[in-house]
Amino acid sequence: HLPTRRKLVVANWKMNMNVASATSFVERLSITGDTSGKVVICPPFPLIYPLRAMLPDSSISIGAQNVHWEDSGAFTGQVSANLLKELDCKYVLIGHSEVREAGETDGMVNQKVKQSVATGIDPIICVGETHKQREQGKTNEMVKGQILKALSKVDDISNVIIAYVPIWAIGTGLSAEPEQAQVVHHVIRETLHHSFGEIAEQVPILYGGSVNQKNAHSLSEMKDIDGALVGGASLDAENFSTIVHAFE
Ligand code: PGA
Repeated sequence: HLPTRRKLVVANWKMNMNVASATSFVERLSITGDTSGKVVICPPFPLIYPLRAMLPDSSISIGAQNVHWEDSGAFTGQVSANLLKELDCKYVLIGHSEVREAGETDGMVNQKVKQSVATGIDPIICVGETHKQREQGKTNEMVKGQILKALSKVDDISNVIIAYVPIWAIGTGLSAEPEQAQVVHHVIRETLHHSFGEIAEQVPILYGGSVNQKNAHSLSEMKDIDGALVGGASLDAENFSTIVHAFE
C-alpha cells in the first residue's frame, strides 16, 4: 500500500528580500501544528546561508531558485547542485517560465533535473502555458510535452515535484480557477502514470500563479492539487502563514 502523498507550500521569493527583510519575515512567521517538511522557502542564492542559520532545527526547508547541471568549472555566475546540497538546500526550482524566458531550453531543464536528482536535491519542475496557448486549446499538449522532456531518461521520479504555473496567472492577480487548474493537474498525473506507473500517485503536483491567502483554501480542495508555489504573497509572513495552513 502506498503512503499518502506529501503536501508542500513553497515560497518563491524571486529577486526580492534582503538580510533585514528575511530576518523580520522569519520573526513574523506564525506556522503552528505539524508542518514538518511541508514548508519550503526559496530565497535568492546569497540568502540561502543566512536564512538557514535563522531557522535552526526548523521544520522549514530551504530551496534554491535555480541550479547548473555541471559539477563545477568555468561557469561564471552559476551555482552547482553540490554547493546547494552543502548549504542544506532540499529543493530546487527548475524550469520556471521566468528562467525559460531568459534562454533556458527543455534540454537544459532536463539536465538540471538529472543533476539535482543525482545530488539528492528534490527538483520542483515548473510547467505551464501562455495565455495564447490556452486560447488555442494547446494547454494539455504543451504541459505534457514539457513534463516528458524534463523527465527524459530520469529513472526514478519518487523525489520529483511538479508545479503547474500557467504563465498568464503569474503576478497578474488572475489565478486559475480551482476546477480549471484541477483539469491540468489531472492531465499531469495521467502523463506521469503513463510513463512511470503507480509512483505517479506519490508525486506532489503544486499549483502556482497568483496564489494568495484568499484563494488558497479552495485550490487546496482539489483532488490533484497537493500544494502551492507562491510568489508575491510569499513576501509577507502573515499571508504566507495563512496559505500554509490552507493546505493542512
Ligand atoms: P505569483 O508567482 O504568486 O506572484 O503569481 C508565482 C510564481 O511565479 O512562482
